Amino acid sequence: GKQPPAAHVVLLASPGAGHVLPMAELARRVVAHGEFTATLVTYANFSSAGHGFPSALMATLPPSVSAAVLPEVPLDDLPADARIETRILTVVERSLPNLRDLLASSSPPGGGGGGVAAFVPDIFGAWALELSAELGVPGYVFCTTNLMALHSLLHTPELDRTTTCEFGDLPEPVRLPGCVPLRGADLVDPLQDRADPAYHFLVDLAKRYLLADGFIVNTFDAMEHEAIAAFETLSRDGVYPPAYAVGPFARTCSSGGQKAEHRCLRWLDEQPDRSVLYVCFGSGGTLSTEQMAELAAGLEASGHKFLWVVRFPSDKDRSASFFGGGHGHSDDPLSYLPEGFVKRTRGVGLAVEEWAPQVEVLSHRAVGGFVSHCGWNSTLEAVAAGVPMLAWPLYAEQRVNAVMLAERVGLALRPRGDNDDGVVTREEVAAAVTELMVGEKGAAAREKARELREAAAEAWALDGTSRKAFEAVAGEWKKAAAVRSRGAS
Ligand code: UDP
Repeated sequence: GKQPPAAHVVLLASPGAGHVLPMAELARRVVAHGEFTATLVTYANFSSAGHGFPSALMATLPPSVSAAVLPEVPLDDLPADARIETRILTVVERSLPNLRDLLASSSPPGGGGGGVAAFVPDIFGAWALELSAELGVPGYVFCTTNLMALHSLLHTPELDRTTTCEFGDLPEPVRLPGCVPLRGADLVDPLQDRADPAYHFLVDLAKRYLLADGFIVNTFDAMEHEAIAAFETLSRDGVYPPAYAVGPFARTCSSGGQKAEHRCLRWLDEQPDRSVLYVCFGSGGTLSTEQMAELAAGLEASGHKFLWVVRFPSDKDRSASFFGGGHGHSDDPLSYLPEGFVKRTRGVGLAVEEWAPQVEVLSHRAVGGFVSHCGWNSTLEAVAAGVPMLAWPLYAEQRVNAVMLAERVGLALRPRGDNDDGVVTREEVAAAVTELMVGEKGAAAREKARELREAAAEAWALDGTSRKAFEAVAGEWKKAAAVRSRGAS
């Protein structure tokens, strides 16, 4: 008989490396499955800030993934201090008409009339779920973070309704089934100020998640067993759409932007096994001037080898680098390091400007620890490389991740237990670095990292939990595509 046309999946990635990179990995798996073609949709807004994403990235994807870019929408009416969440969600909202046209005109290459089998926006793009509902296309949210963070977001409309104080002043931790109790102050950053427009955007977004047919979550059983089991019960009871734990999707090589052989890799080649601490705060993480000086002094005092991706400091915004931290600077971020630091640490440490090929760095045999903002992609990349972490959350849902990684999973140490307000002093930095690299707690975290690396590989083995979950979603999409193409003919 005639082969049925491949069903088509439209994936929508919000601005930012932390969204575009894992969405590209999802696109790769969707077409590798064999029965789908895919379009990866990105936004023109902010795409130039992201170190060569997404155009360089697209070049690395198989031909059955096509690219579409939604045209730039104006944002000049937003206040200069608008948070990244407000900016991203405003782009998503203002792009809805363009996205509607794109979805309505999408059909698989060669026609076939099947239309779109599934629409898959990420956690910010989920604002667009009303469109899939309107067009009768199944909508699945790709959660680029963990299930516990998603669960805490889903819970915010209820918190918003039942409390009046700032979440940071909640007298009791938030207890969600299967999740580590979360202090109000550890809930996602944009929810910490009820007066900020980002707060309302996020509460509204959380309500829209309920329009989804399911959540595709970049997590796996060994990482979040209890949270996954508890969420299953909730969705069976109809409280939330089902969650499919299909991760970890971590890149196996860095792509986009940087040259294949960054000088830091050659430097790592000269260092002993597991001797180097890698310090990097994701695509957006930014330290204050004072914190940058304390971190530098602490690294120097620890005596341990380090590789530090240095950004321009900002005293206003811990996510300033997200939109291109170099903006407005004509000099070099390394010039903001303490006087003489680079010279004094020569041979022991290497500071690089702005960006490193992180996947290659983490999997280098010389790297033994990772000071991280706990962005979820960075976390999964550390897992894939078996490297333990020092949790240094800065923005977004990173405190949720840090709590989970330190208190439940055991992959990360926290320089100060659960109190990371204010500046972390040089003494605290030096002590935490030494504990991670050569202390007993560091050894336990390293052992955990090794276990998780194996479990992550098993999750995608033939009978692995994540592979099965992915097959289940693909099965739903195929069913929907079959129904739609019958309807069309
Ligand atoms: N990244 C990188 N080099 C850098 C900084 C970041 O390759 O110097 C990549 C990193 O490997 C990860 C992504 O950018 O894949 C950042 O995503 P994450 O979720 O960790 O943090 P976000 O940037 O979204 O806060």
